[in-house]
Amino acid sequence: MIVCLDLEGVLVPEIWVGLAERTGIDALRATTRDVPDYDELMRQRLRILDDNGLGMAHLQAVIDEVAPFAGAREFVDWIRARYQLVILSDTFYEFARPLMRQLGWPTLFCHRLETDASGRISNYHLRLPDHKRAAVAAFQQLNFRVAAAGDSYNDTGMLGQAHTGILFAPPQNVVDEFPQFRVTRDYNGLRDALAAASQQ
Ligand SMILES: [Mg+2]
Repeated sequence: MIVCLDLEGVLVPEIWVGLAERTGIDALRATTRDVPDYDELMRQRLRILDDNGLGMAHLQAVIDEVAPFAGAREFVDWIRARYQLVILSDTFYEFARPLMRQLGWPTLFCHRLETDASGRISNYHLRLPDHKRAAVAAFQQLNFRVAAAGDSYNDTGMLGQAHTGILFAPPQNVVDEFPQFRVTRDYNGLRDALAAASQQ
């Protein structure tokens, strides 16, 4: 079985919120709930970083101060000792790096940022649209059973595609809108749900 896990909200805090808190720039808190068009949201974020003179090196130093959730590393190790783990995230490799180090470098599929010679973030590149769902479908093509877990809207495609889709600490509106997915609230609950999925 392959376990596909979302990153932010499951193993680590929301990275853009962490950046907003540590830089004091409130506008960086905006999410797809505020700006539904992801491209527009990313252009806005890159413009704010630019306006404030925040380049890659500075941002990576800031993210370096963010820690995974308590118990996340142990949870990742628990999964890796039993199943195959692939983290499917809409973050960027350059931002996730300090957090992945703290998690013991599990496999991560996500997007990437482009930095110019001065260290300014000049662009972003999505791996492909809806890549979480596409990755789950590809693993199924390879004859893997897939259990997927995530906390929010951008996970519901992969949760629906997986043999077993599990919500982890989701906001209530996601619970209400997607009653077909089992809801877990902590790592013990998610361990139980994954163990059950592996028996099916
Ligand atoms: Mg998330």
